[in-house]
This record gives sequence, structure tokens and C-alpha cells, in this order.
Amino acid sequence: MQLPISGKQFIGLTSSSEGTETFRSINPATGDPNPWEFSEATDGEIDRAAELAAQAAGEYARLSRNRRAAFLREIADGLEENKKQLIAAFTLESGLPEGRANGELGRTTSQLRLFADLAEEGSWVQARIDTAQPDREPLPKADIRKCLLPIGPVVVFGASNFPFAFSTAGGDTASALAAGCPVIVKGHPMHPATGELVAQAVLRAARETKMPDGVFSHLQGTSQNLGGRLVRHEAVAAVGFTGSRAGGLALSRLAAEREVPIPFFAEMGSVNPVVFLPSALKAKAGWAKAYAASVTLGVGQFCTNPGLLFAIDSPDLETFARSLADEIAAFPPSCMLHPNMAGHFTDMRRTMEQQHGVEFLTPGNPPEGPNEVPATVARVSGTDFLANPKLQMEVFGPFTLLVTCRDAEELQAALAGLEGQLTASLLGSEAEFRESEKVLELLRSRAGRILFNGVPTGVEVCPSMQHGGPFPATTDSRFTSVGTDAILRWARPVSFQNCPQSLLPDVLRNSNPTGVWRMVDGAWSDEGIINL
Ligand code: NAP
Repeated sequence: MQLPISGKQFIGLTSSSEGTETFRSINPATGDPNPWEFSEATDGEIDRAAELAAQAAGEYARLSRNRRAAFLREIADGLEENKKQLIAAFTLESGLPEGRANGELGRTTSQLRLFADLAEEGSWVQARIDTAQPDREPLPKADIRKCLLPIGPVVVFGASNFPFAFSTAGGDTASALAAGCPVIVKGHPMHPATGELVAQAVLRAARETKMPDGVFSHLQGTSQNLGGRLVRHEAVAAVGFTGSRAGGLALSRLAAEREVPIPFFAEMGSVNPVVFLPSALKAKAGWAKAYAASVTLGVGQFCTNPGLLFAIDSPDLETFARSLADEIAAFPPSCMLHPNMAGHFTDMRRTMEQQHGVEFLTPGNPPEGPNEVPATVARVSGTDFLANPKLQMEVFGPFTLLVTCRDAEELQAALAGLEGQLTASLLGSEAEFRESEKVLELLRSRAGRILFNGVPTGVEVCPSMQHGGPFPATTDSRFTSVGTDAILRWARPVSFQNCPQSLLPDVLRNSNPTGVWRMVDGAWSDEGIINL
């Protein structure tokens, strides 16, 4: 299929290709470069995108919630209209099957519509009104009103493993646009064609819905200068990042070292510990099948991939370990997203094999095609795990390490030594959960989402979702990058004291023209304030 790829930067509504350096993506299934050539963004282009976003910020922040919602819905419609081209680019650049591409596109458009609804409804701005009490003794009380306001231009770094849902028009972009912030996307160099097609849809929607020029820009390149310069640019107010720990930490340092530091929200993955209580091990092959499917889903390239399984030694654990190994060994070697990713997995798998006490339970079937890797389950004792922090490292791909603990005390010690996580799972009966108070407390203190009798892959996009956990899973565990609360990263609370009605944001006016839910003098209300 012929795809309309220009290989250019999009600086607001204008395309540009000043860079003389070029790059191509790779088709991981064949190992060959894809046909399109992309120019590397120059410093001038980076600066223009940031300055244009700053110019657009005021006007975009002032637009009505309905206009912002219409923009987001138009993007979703545009992506669906161009589905065939998008799926073609996605599969060529990721090696992932069409079914996955379709599913991820559906998630992306639903996410955009969810944020459109959120923007339109409007109560997410957390309006609080404390009316004046001029007669209060000993001192009168002022009229104070507070709500969240857009923070300003946001830079988004998409991840390689979600070319739609966590990239150009993914969750970070959708939530920032819904909040009223212009977005500059730093396209992921592993899927620049997919990124460009999505960016074209966003810009068509911006034109259709008459958004200010600069509300969205898309910059491509392989040089770290691009991301670094964006993060350091004085016009940028916040950053959203999904990817590796090394990348997230390097960029968050830049954000913190700026003359004016800015919030940097990074989701840097995790090993998602899973604790099997005795009854879960007894459940024959049931959980082994489900866990093998979770470990190998998307060739293990998910930040919620279960990388560490814990259980107390028992004959049932032996049976479970054999079933898990059989299930995982039955998974054929599969193609990873990129040669670097496959190379990284191979290196990490070898590193794990070399660690003291680690035993591989799967044979590691030889790959047949380019960038293919074998799904692997390994085992180590709790004692060796406790002695070696390297065994906590994320092996990004279809790999899981089963830690067999001597007793409950060793299990608790192993959990106590874990880093911050996106998720933690507990499997067993309700009676066992009640008896595992300490284990539960340890998991709760280390993870953003606790699952009972489930697998961690599959992150629902909904208001109650928390996709963020203590460092190093994310840089700020108070926030989430999935679900409607993701919008809170892109807003800043402002109080208005004794402000004339006509100057207040509409959500804080007495008449409540937008009908949002507000906390008025301590009580929730969606009505206007009368009798003042
Ligand atoms: P990544 O290497 O961290 O890259 C993410 C984005 O950040 C890319 O656009 C990358 O651009 C940019 N970037 C990274 N380091 C940078 C730096 N020092 N300065 C400026 N820009 C920088 O993540 P990835 O490519 O998606 O995957 C690589 C590894 O990340 C995987 O092997 C896996 O371990 C991990 N990962 C984690 C998650 C997760 O869910 N948290 C998701 C995917 C991958 P350049 O490539 O141009 O540098």
C-alpha cells in the first residue's frame, strides 16, 4: 500500500524539513529498512515548535470545553477514517500482528473520546468556592475560589511498544489537549511513519475545528539533542514520558536542572511482582496457563509484564513450575519490536543466566526469523534473590523469574527489598488474603495497582485506573498516565481571592454557567450560587 508519508516535521500547521541528516525505520519482521526517509529535526525547527506552542497556549486555554472536546473527537474520527493506512504503517514498523494494531487503534480512539467527554463535562477542574464572611469575628473572611488551570505547553515522548496508544495521539497527548495544553510530540524513531500518519490526522482535526496554530507539533529524529532541547526549552511547561529507565532518568534530570525546573512525568516500567499463595499453586494448570499468556502477550513488551513470581517452596510449587515451563516453552520464538530491543533482551537474558543460583526452566527454542527471541522462565531461591539486586532488573520481553522462598519470613524479606512497581498481584483464596496482612501491606507500599487473582497485563482505561507507582516505576507516584486522572498532570491549581465575577474562570462564577460539580462552602453542588 502506498502511504502518504512526507518525512517532514510538523510545526503547527506548517511542514518543514531543514535537516540534512535522515533516518529510516526498520521492519523488524524482515530486518530491512522501511521505504520512507525522515529528516532529523534541526535546532531551529525545535525552537519554532516550542515558541509556536507558547503562542497558542493562551488562546487554547481560553477555548470553551466543547471546542476542545470537538477537537479530540475529530482526531478520533480522523484516525478511524485512515485506519487502513495506519494499520499498514503500524505493522510494517512494529512487526506486531494486524489484530494487535486494530485493538490498539480502538483503544486510542476510545481514549481520545473519553478525554473529550471529560473535558466537556468539566468537573475535573476541582472547583472549590469558599464564599466571603464579612462579619466573621475576630477577622472577616475573604471570598476565595480555586480551580485547576492548564499548565502550558507539554512535550510528549511516546513509547516504542505502543505506537498508537502511548505515542503521537496516545494517552499523554489526549489528556494534555483535554486539559487545555498545546502538545509537542517527540516522535519515536522506531515508528516514524505511524507517527507521521497519526500527526497528519491530529493536524487535519486542528484545521477542521479551527484550533490555534501551534496547538500540536510533531518532531522526528534519532538524536538525543531533539528530546533534550525540547525538555530544556523555556517555553515548555511539563513533560510526559513513557520508555526506559535510563531515558526517563536522563531527561528528568534535564527538567530538574533547568533554570526554571518543570514537572516531568515518566513511566519507566516495572517487573510487576506476583505472589502465589498455596491455594493458587494447587489450582492445577489454570494459573500457569494464564500467567504464561500474560508473560508472552505482545512478546512480553509491556510495562505490566509479570517479571517476578514469588511462592513458598512446596510440592505444589514444583508441579506449578513444571506446568508454567511447559506453557512458556510451547510459545514459539517471536519477533520483537526492533533489533535493539531483541538485542537488549538477548543480553539481559544472558545476564540473568549468569547470575548465581539462576536455573532456566525452558530450553530457549532457537529463533527462526530476524529479531525473534525465545520466551523464558527461570527460577532462583529466595536466598539467592535476596543476595543479588540484579535479579530485580527488568528484562523487557517474554521473561519471568520464579523466586522460590523457604518460608513466609523469606517471602516477606524478598518483597520488602523490591523497588517501586506499577502493579503487584496476589493469588489465593480470600481466607489466605486475610491471613497475609503483612504481604499485602508490603505490596501496597510498593505498587500503584494491586490485583487479586488476576494477571497484570491489560490496563483498563477508566476513571479508577492507577498506572503509576513509587519510583522507579514512575517519577511521581501521586499521578497516573492511564485513565481520566492522567489529565491532572497537566494542570495547576490557582486561587482567586475577592476576584470580581466577570474576571473569574467560568467554572468559578456564581451562576455556574457550565454546570460543573463544585465544592461550595463545604458541600458538593452543580447549581449556581444564589442569595449572595
Ligand atoms: P526509550 O529508549 O527510553 O525511548 C523513549 C523515547 O525517549 C524515545 O523517543 C527516545 O528517543 C527518547 N529518549 C530516550 N533517552 C533519551 C535521552 N537520554 N535524551 C533524549 N531523548 C531520549 O524507550 P523505548 O525506545 O520505548 O524502549 C527501550 C527500552 O525501554 C526497552 O527495551 C524497555 O526496557 C523500556 N521500555 C519501557 C516501557 C515502559 O512501559 N515503561 C515501554 C517501552 C520500553 P531516541 O530513541 O531518539 O533516543
